[in-house]
Amino acid sequence: MSVVSDTVTSHLPAKRKTTPSGWCSFNAVCCHHNGTSQDRRQRGGLISNPDGGVSYHCFNCGFKASWQPGRNLSYKMRRLLTWLGVPDSEISQVALEVLRENEGVEVESQRFVLPEFSEVPLPEDSVNLATCDITSKHQVEVIKYMASRNLFFEDYDFYWSPSLAYRDRLIVPFTHKGKTVGWTARKIRDGKPKYMSEQQPGYVFNMEAQTDSKIFGIVCEGPLDAVHIEAMALLGSEIKDQQAYLVNSLNRRIILVPDRDDAGRKLVEQAIEHEWNVSLPDWHTDVNDISDAVNRYGKIYTLYSIVTAAESSPLKIRLRSKTWFG
Ligand SMILES: [Zn+2]
Repeated sequence: MSVVSDTVTSHLPAKRKTTPSGWCSFNAVCCHHNGTSQDRRQRGGLISNPDGGVSYHCFNCGFKASWQPGRNLSYKMRRLLTWLGVPDSEISQVALEVLRENEGVEVESQRFVLPEFSEVPLPEDSVNLATCDITSKHQVEVIKYMASRNLFFEDYDFYWSPSLAYRDRLIVPFTHKGKTVGWTARKIRDGKPKYMSEQQPGYVFNMEAQTDSKIFGIVCEGPLDAVHIEAMALLGSEIKDQQAYLVNSLNRRIILVPDRDDAGRKLVEQAIEHEWNVSLPDWHTDVNDISDAVNRYGKIYTLYSIVTAAESSPLKIRLRSKTWFG
């Protein structure tokens, strides 16, 4: 047995039967989520393997989900758990235990909780650019920069600070559950550092834009890329474990869109480990990230090209990487 098969079997419908070959059948829980009428003929089947692996197959709508030891919890398996009525917190806990087992780390006895973030102030005298008075030419330059990057006040609450260190920077607050928990301030012209940031470990940018109406969770690297298409951002080119838990807690299909550079290439391998989809859209070769794509094609086409190019097969992702990264 394994934590995954234990969790699945303890949430199966009460009315079920087991065949001599080991399949447990019951009314499928997937069909109406997949546009098929509800199963009343016990066409959902589950089989547990002696090694702890578990496979679910619906003979009504065709939905399949499985887990084998050594693999992480796939989004399909998470969906199945959700449909069986397993609470989100318990699914996150299972995912964590599986991840730790795979990494050979002993599972701690306490329940896993998603990262919490403490409130932090924005840079001194920061004002919301959408509502403040124009008091300085630096502020005008920052607004012009936004316009040049196709960033609009309605996209996000952008800030600006008159203090010397920040006045030629666009301040992007990091929020979580309604609180400001960090920020980044991007320089609007050449010069270092490009970004000045206050960031807490495990933070994922723009989780709050991932409303229930979204079918996918798109993940990219930079916050301004994320703002363009209401995606999440890792704020770097690495997937930290805590970030993965947070993203996976959405229980939906996750699509990574890397930047077109060496760091992005490495990020693709991490996404494969987390069983995320990867999208390497058919963009012009000089389009290196989502901001470039939005400038060239507009938001709607950029989003469309990302979703249609999303790929789950590691083999196909790696093949496409070879040409996409050049
Ligand atoms: Zn079904």
